[in-house]
Amino acid sequence: MINLTGKTYESCVEVLQKLTNAGHEAYIVGGAVRDAMLGFPVSDFDIASSAKPEEIMSLFDKVIPTGIDHGTVTVMHHSFSYEITTYRTDSSYADFRHPDAVSYLSSIEEDLARRDFTMNSMALSLDGTLIDLYGGQEDIKNGLIRTVGNPLERFQEDALRMIRAVRFQSTLSFALDKHTHCALKKQADLLQYVAVERIQAEFSKLLAGKGVQQALVTLIQANVHHILPGIQQIEKSLDEVPFLVNLTTEAERWAWLASTTEEPKRFLKKWRLSNRFVKEVDYLVENARSAQTRGWNKATVYTALPEAEACERLLSVFEKRLPKIKKVEQIMSELPITSATMLTVTGEDLVQWRGISPGPWVGEALREIELAVINEEIKNEKSSIRRWLKQWQTQ
Ligand code: ATP
Ligand code: MG
Repeated sequence: MINLTGKTYESCVEVLQKLTNAGHEAYIVGGAVRDAMLGFPVSDFDIASSAKPEEIMSLFDKVIPTGIDHGTVTVMHHSFSYEITTYRTDSSYADFRHPDAVSYLSSIEEDLARRDFTMNSMALSLDGTLIDLYGGQEDIKNGLIRTVGNPLERFQEDALRMIRAVRFQSTLSFALDKHTHCALKKQADLLQYVAVERIQAEFSKLLAGKGVQQALVTLIQANVHHILPGIQQIEKSLDEVPFLVNLTTEAERWAWLASTTEEPKRFLKKWRLSNRFVKEVDYLVENARSAQTRGWNKATVYTALPEAEACERLLSVFEKRLPKIKKVEQIMSELPITSATMLTVTGEDLVQWRGISPGPWVGEALREIELAVINEEIKNEKSSIRRWLKQWQTQ
């Protein structure tokens, strides 16, 4: 039933062997078991072990204490990385998002009980034995997302699990089990206590899933769109969602989401995305919007570089059609220059030719020259540009 192969898996087996040879228990857990069962390729292996972080650190040469307070370390082996988490429980969640204390446990069975969904609570041993205490295999067969234990309690313990449920609905095209769905509607308010950074990571995955339409509908039904920042209006853009498959990067998907709001930049900042990412995403929104009103021509393509294709993919979602990448590439191939550095003149040339001191006029003139060259009103040659500058001077 579970067929794991490949270099990352072989190296993972060595990690498991090393742990068991030292007298510890170790299992592959979580997403790797779930995805293997679904027949998906697995490259990310999480390991649960009876070994304590210090014991793991003494066994392996390269260990990064990524989440040592929660009993997680990352082991590097053959240049692959493996998160190893000591059997643990998270006790009492006073603030609905962080366990107050972590205590180590002695058995894998207890560790599996703290996991979110039945499909994520299975463990696979070195000899291929599957530990499935909550019917994960059956739920996977039926395409069902079901919490381990009472969903009301599990969502109260950690409200992020509600977003995780919906992100799995999107990525796996699974349905929510009836009780899990009811609990989501009842407990959605608790999401206001969850750090937006944690929601953001799940939301990125949600946007990339094949079942994103259904997932967004679930969020709307549960009123979650009134709790998460800036997406109250998302319902109006649902007809664009089937075209999200046109998008290829995380930035493009956030650009789409941001574009459903009045102030994309503000929206992205509310989601605590990094400044660099906000800039990148905002650039996509601006240029796609500009192409939407002005069409693709040399000027709009040039201004959108190096992201013109990404902007066309985004525009294709706004316009609910397939992307016309060839058209954009054709215009790109006809551009006389692809960046200002390709101009045959510099600011210094302009200053020398005009014989007046540099000032804001230099940047202004260069920008106009750039546009005139792109629109083929002048050639990208010193003599033509000098002639153009004389006229510009007399204006
Ligand atoms: P992906 O393939 O996207 O990584 P995953 O199931 O591996 O999916 P992770 O976030 O990597 O998701 O978490 C690894 C495992 O840890 C999960 O499969 C689940 O067993 C457990 N887990 C993660 N987050 C929670 C949570 N909030 N509550 C309970 N268990 C969790
Ligand atoms: Mg994972």
